[in-house]
Amino acid sequence: TDASSFVDSKIAVVPDFPKPGILFRDVTPLFSDADAFATVTTALSEPFDGGFVAVAGIEARGFALAGGIAIEQGVGVLTVRKAGKLPGEVLSESYALEYGEATLELRPNQIPAGSSVLIVDDVLATGGTVEATITLLERAGYVVAGVAVLLELDGLGGRARLEGRVPVHALSSA
Ligand code: 5GP
Repeated sequence: TDASSFVDSKIAVVPDFPKPGILFRDVTPLFSDADAFATVTTALSEPFDGGFVAVAGIEARGFALAGGIAIEQGVGVLTVRKAGKLPGEVLSESYALEYGEATLELRPNQIPAGSSVLIVDDVLATGGTVEATITLLERAGYVVAGVAVLLELDGLGGRARLEGRVPVHALSSA
């Protein structure tokens, strides 16, 4: 599809970023191209259209994608943030990284309990980030309609970890 070609042609592969040995996928060229951004935004939500009342964007690149989907689908945005960024009552979920751990947070009670929510992020790798996000949304009382990402990295177990729990839609894989 057009969306897959944009993901394949516009995402830059950067060796040794942010650390030696890591092959980083830089999605910013896809975001700065108006046609590419609009095309992937439409394609990300397409399998789930009509089935969600909010889109949860994961900090930070997921925010841009969530904004695009929200305007097009007429739904609101939930921001899933790194620890310490959200005021007031928050739910926190920590998860293991290759070295160390990370924490994501969500403000509860922003939309009605039982609401269906689509999760969006740029890249699915081990699936730890999305798994923590699913847990946060479920703890808040929401139903996860699915997960949409631009790119899934093969061989890191992300899809296997999430499948059976929620539908996973990736525009391309590498
Ligand atoms: P995971 O938790 O699935 O291992 O990692 C996914 C998270 O790390 C996502 O939030 C994603 O933005 C980020 N991430 C991991 N690898 C890459 C990459 O190569 N490029 C980009 N842009 N983000 C990555």
